[in-house]
Amino acid sequence: MNKAETIKIFLEYLRELRKRREDWFQGWSGRWPSCPVCGPTDVLLEYEEHVKAHLKILRFNPGKVTPSSWIFNQDDARVFKAASTYEYTLIDALNAIFFYNQPVNRRLRTPCLRRWFKAYTLVLRDDLAGYSLWNQDEEADSILRKYGRPLQEKAMVLRQIYLLPEFRGRGLGNILIDAALENLKVKPGDLWLVESPNQACLSLLNKRADRGNILAVSYW
Ligand SMILES: [Zn+2]
Repeated sequence: MNKAETIKIFLEYLRELRKRREDWFQGWSGRWPSCPVCGPTDVLLEYEEHVKAHLKILRFNPGKVTPSSWIFNQDDARVFKAASTYEYTLIDALNAIFFYNQPVNRRLRTPCLRRWFKAYTLVLRDDLAGYSLWNQDEEADSILRKYGRPLQEKAMVLRQIYLLPEFRGRGLGNILIDAALENLKVKPGDLWLVESPNQACLSLLNKRADRGNILAVSYW
C-alpha cells in the first residue's frame, strides 16, 4: 500500500471515530473501531489524537527539519536532535503511538519534553522510524548507591526509546542510541542508565558491546 492510500484510510478512520464519539456522548456503548495499524483499543476519548499522530507521521517531510538539527547521516539512516516546534511535534506524534500501545506509560507532553529531555529522531530514507528521549541525572549518586555501583555525580539516562513496528529488527535502535550517546558526549567506558526498559529494549541492550557500561534502573 502506498502512502497516499494509507493516508486515505486514516482520514476515513478519523471520520468514523468522530461519528462514534458523538454517538458515545448520546449514550452509545458499542465497540470502538480499531486502529488500522495498532489494532483494537479501550482508550476512548483521546484516541482521536492517536489517529492524528499516525497522519502526522505519514505526512512527515524531512525537508522541513532544520538543516542544523541533523546530527547523523549514514547510508539511508539519519538522526536529528529536536529543536524546532515542527521537530518536537513529530516526537509527540511518535510518543502518542507509543503511549497507546503501552497504556501504563506516562504521557510526555511538549512543554515537559522541551524542558527536561534531549529528544532524537531516526529517519530511514524519508520516513520517521522512531525516537529516543534522554536526560541528565544531576544527582546520580543516589541511584548508583541503590544499585551498588561506583558513585559519580552525573549520568545520562535513556528514558524512552521507540521504533515503529515496521522498522524493528534491523539494528536501527542501535543507530539511534549511538548517535545520541555521541551527541551527549558519553565517552566509551562512561556508565549510562536506562529507566525501566521493557523486554524488547533489554534484548537490544544485551547485544551491545558496551553492555557492561549500561545500568537498567527504576526510579519508582
Ligand atoms: Zn494506531
